[in-house]
Amino acid sequence: MPIYEYICKECNHEFIVSLSFHEAEMKPEIKCPHCNSPKVEKKFSVFTAKTSKKS
Ligand SMILES: [Zn+2]
Repeated sequence: MPIYEYICKECNHEFIVSLSFHEAEMKPEIKCPHCNSPKVEKKFSVFTAKTSKKS
């Protein structure tokens, strides 16, 4: 499941949202869990599957 890291432009709170591909395609409105502001910016996304790749 992709993890999306957001930063809030109102309070600079950083938080992580995990969405399924389907949910991400629907472009849901992400709100800051700290101040409830919709002014959030996506930082980057990583895939959890990457971290488990150890051979
Ligand atoms: Zn905030």
